[in-house]
Amino acid sequence: MAKWIEFRTCQGCGYDLATGEGERGCALHDCAYMPEELKVFCPSCLFDFVTMEGNPPCDDPMTCEHGEAARANVANVEAWQRHHAVVASSLGVGDH
Ligand SMILES: [Zn+2]
Ligand SMILES: [Zn+2]
Repeated sequence: MAKWIEFRTCQGCGYDLATGEGERGCALHDCAYMPEELKVFCPSCLFDFVTMEGNPPCDDPMTCEHGEAARANVANVEAWQRHHAVVASSLGVGDH
């Protein structure tokens, strides 16, 4: 099984990405220890491809070239959510 699917608590700040518990100490959209495979926001406009939240300066976040890798990771996050029985729709990215 892939390592990233077991990822849950950021070693940097102790934030639990499955429950949203803990103090998030890393940058809002980029926990230092979050595996690349679970990053689903555009590095350029920070649009979140799982929650469809964001205020993208990119014209069309669904096709913007910066978000290519992030869009490909959406399936990973969905698998991760099933694995951890996460009800919330994002990896703690956003304002909760
Ligand atoms: Zn962190
Ligand atoms: Zn973008």
